[in-house]
Amino acid sequence: MNKPHHTRGKVILAGAGPGDPELVTLKTVRYLQQADVVLTDRLVSNELLEAHVPERAQIVYVGKQCRRGASTPQETINELLVEYALQGKLVVRLKGGDVSVFSNILDELHTLVEHQIPYEIIPGVTAALGASAYAGIPLTARGYTKAVRLLTCYKSDVITDAYWEELARTDDTLVFYMSSETLDHIVTNLVQRNIAADKWLAIAEQATTSLQHVHITSLYEYERTLKGREFISPAIVIIGKVVRLYEQFQWRANSNSREHYFKPLVRQDIDEPATNGLLRHGELPQHIPAADDTAHQPVLLPASAAVVQTNTGPQAENAVKEHEHVSRA
Ligand code: SAH
Repeated sequence: MNKPHHTRGKVILAGAGPGDPELVTLKTVRYLQQADVVLTDRLVSNELLEAHVPERAQIVYVGKQCRRGASTPQETINELLVEYALQGKLVVRLKGGDVSVFSNILDELHTLVEHQIPYEIIPGVTAALGASAYAGIPLTARGYTKAVRLLTCYKSDVITDAYWEELARTDDTLVFYMSSETLDHIVTNLVQRNIAADKWLAIAEQATTSLQHVHITSLYEYERTLKGREFISPAIVIIGKVVRLYEQFQWRANSNSREHYFKPLVRQDIDEPATNGLLRHGELPQHIPAADDTAHQPVLLPASAAVVQTNTGPQAENAVKEHEHVSRA
């Protein structure tokens, strides 16, 4: 337990990359190897945790906030960060993809600053970059486009009419996170506004994982080609002229397995009391907090890890008190 002083009592906010466990920085790997506690999101590769988190470290699963619930699970995550850090532990807060792209990092930063807890922010490969690379779609290919936009349309009303006009007109490549369930809505809005026919759509399911599957289609053919299809989560949408480069440069065969790389969990109604919020050694939480993803969200749990599920107010308190008892065997 003779760790260098500077690694104690600190929070590392680190990106785990989009799925392929090798798509992670050396820096994040080093911190995982040194960690006392890893607070991990759902979309983090089990293989990554298994490979780099030492047996002595605790892995704590923290789900995302349920939009329908009155509870505020983010507060629980904040509390856990503070609690562990004030015990002098090196805490790695691991988030899928990059830490800052469509994540709750701001809340966590406010909390850390408020409690004067030192932290570092280590970037990760965000899903847009992972998916486009593994599909052979250069997002800003010269001669095709000069820019890329990272967007979400997780609910059908997050984009205004005026902005749809703009999105239909721009030559920028559009990447939509958390939007596979609103895909019909996206296509309809762009087609209604006469988006150019040479801008195509790609949707990458479980991108960069061994179960990656990429579909591409003309937006004007979408009704026939992809409409009604249920995409395996997580999935990301790319729209633009660059999409057809896939036909030339794709380098990974599609997986036709419909398996989930990130294990799906049973979803229960938020109001039902589920467990006491505490799970041990690979138990699957029955009460899944809805995610930062609108799709039925696969969740990955480390097989040998102890898990604290943090989802409701009173449970949050228990989780903070009881997490001490949760450790890897
Ligand atoms: N911080 C993450 C994004 C979190 S939002 C990042 O930087 O990538 C969750 C959304 O990211 C999912 O709904 C999906 O649109 C996208 N996503 C994450 N991992 C993905 C993957 N392996 N394949 C496809 N999309 C993915």
